[in-house]
Amino acid sequence: MAGLAYFSGIRKIGAGVVRVGPGNPELQFDSIHRVQPTSIVTVPSFIIKLIEFAEENNIDMNKTSIKKAICIGEALRNNDFTLNTLGNRIAEKWNIQLFSTYASTEMGTAFTECEYGLGGHHHPEMIIVEFLDENDKPVKDGEPGEVTITNLGVEGMPLLRFKTGDICNHYYTPCKCGRTTMRLGPVIGRKKQMIKFKGTTLYPPAMCDILNDIKEVKNYIIEVSTNSIGTDDILLKLGVEAPSKELEKMIKDHFRARIRVAPFIQFEKVDEIQKLQFPNMSRKPVTFIDKR
Ligand SMILES: [Zn+2]
Repeated sequence: MAGLAYFSGIRKIGAGVVRVGPGNPELQFDSIHRVQPTSIVTVPSFIIKLIEFAEENNIDMNKTSIKKAICIGEALRNNDFTLNTLGNRIAEKWNIQLFSTYASTEMGTAFTECEYGLGGHHHPEMIIVEFLDENDKPVKDGEPGEVTITNLGVEGMPLLRFKTGDICNHYYTPCKCGRTTMRLGPVIGRKKQMIKFKGTTLYPPAMCDILNDIKEVKNYIIEVSTNSIGTDDILLKLGVEAPSKELEKMIKDHFRARIRVAPFIQFEKVDEIQKLQFPNMSRKPVTFIDKR
């Protein structure tokens, strides 16, 4: 759905577009070399695959024709709009401009950043957006809320106050580009994955971002359960090659610095975590297990 939407939009602005299909980095580089496009539309984690392929095959990414990437499906930024771990891993290796987007089929439109990267711009003529709290009331200014949408102009299956399950911040101050419509922050997490831990509200992506940044942690599973007093406990099962007390302390310090609280940590063998991450031939790794 997103692919078709971007295809139509790119045609409308008068640009050419080549559909390359999923997966194969070699085919992508071959197409880039032949067609000399200036932009790519992709999930950002696939850019990491392109970078790895380029490094293995002595391709200088910075000498290709690509200047921009429109990134769909995954967040590129932290709440303060700085690049997150994924965004940084791309930016360190490839000097292109990254644009983050947020959309779903139900919305019938997308929230896309301008060149200043300060949140996805709202198109009020296409969609009404509300940000609701747990009691379905609008959140106060500056508080994150559940993105709730009413699409305008959709005739086949219009939706009234459809709750997306995504929790985001939003901003009404004008953007540096001069647009004055609402800007949507990156997705903080899924509403049903909200964790109340030691008095702090948090979501799995914040923990993933910290763990992705620690090179000793090769893979991981975040497990959430309800403890005897009815609040949430978080257990991090971390695949590491050389577990130690020092490593545990270092990881806990990272968590306290970034999200104020430190979950329980259990070191495991890397291949044990690998098995837990891919149950029943699952194609996407499972990194969050909710036992509540
Ligand atoms: Zn802007």
